[in-house]
Amino acid sequence: MKTTSIKFLLSFLVLGFFACGTGEGDSAANAPKQNNNAPKANKAKIPAPNFNADSAYVFIEKQVAMGPRVPGTPTQKVAADWMANKLRSFGAKVTVQESTVTVYDGTRVPMYNVIGAYKPEEKKRVALFAHWDTRPFADMDTERKDEPILGANDGGSGVGVLLEIARLIEKTPPNVGVDIILFDVEDYGVERAETYCLGSQYWGKNPHVPGYKAMYGILLDMVGAKDAIFHQEGHSLAFARPIVDKVWKAANRAGYSSYFPYRQVNPITDDHYFVNTLTKIPTIDIIQYDPHTEKGFGAFWHTHDDDMDIISTTTLKAVGQTVLETIYSE
Ligand SMILES: [Zn+2]
Repeated sequence: MKTTSIKFLLSFLVLGFFACGTGEGDSAANAPKQNNNAPKANKAKIPAPNFNADSAYVFIEKQVAMGPRVPGTPTQKVAADWMANKLRSFGAKVTVQESTVTVYDGTRVPMYNVIGAYKPEEKKRVALFAHWDTRPFADMDTERKDEPILGANDGGSGVGVLLEIARLIEKTPPNVGVDIILFDVEDYGVERAETYCLGSQYWGKNPHVPGYKAMYGILLDMVGAKDAIFHQEGHSLAFARPIVDKVWKAANRAGYSSYFPYRQVNPITDDHYFVNTLTKIPTIDIIQYDPHTEKGFGAFWHTHDDDMDIISTTTLKAVGQTVLETIYSE
């Protein structure tokens, strides 16, 4: 995802850029309509299962053991196949969107968005997103800047949490349908915001199901570092404030309010921005960002320190249980 230092200006530029392609961009007005007069479905509430952070940790370890998951390298396909097989083994209906995208320097690279659907026939759905690719360079490091990072947290953690959620959904299905959507080629960008998030931009224009709709979406990005805090991010508030409220309340109910303080931070260009603008599915970003730290995203960000040493099962548990509490309360 894109650093926030120039993000504000960039987000306006991108808004302008995409306004040409997508027509008017007011997400609130165009959000999926819910019929408030319909009788409430009297499905009994299903208690949220217990998120197993050790299991999520192992899913991250498996990805990191593959090495950097960089678009255009042999590991890219290995990792995509592994995630598709994992989702299949957890009972999801799997679609792999395969295409080619052009990165910032004109290079064409393969792209694999890996998607697992639960209860695909159900109209009431929640979309859970993460990016799975890792950055091809360590541009925030002081050494070996041109080498790819391992991306335990930036890439690995969101996938780890969502695979554990998939495992639990198969055992105890919630009332709603759930789509787990793992985007490729998020972190190959340089400077301009639209050079990031190429997998989500592709999916936003070519959803895996024509006319795909979900009640809302939750993106997880960098959700596994020790001492992470998740603030209410600007684009999430602008496009999907009721979903921010819903998830922060769920964090409180689950006992993780200290990880989800009621504090707002500036917008960050991440996959949710393109999901919101291209599909109008109100989507929030759960992302580690603290404006009072030097980098905002944590000292490991886009460096070779982003390895298993910074991953904390306590943080994974806080995020995973909060997401489960949210979808099982539907
Ligand atoms: Zn990144």
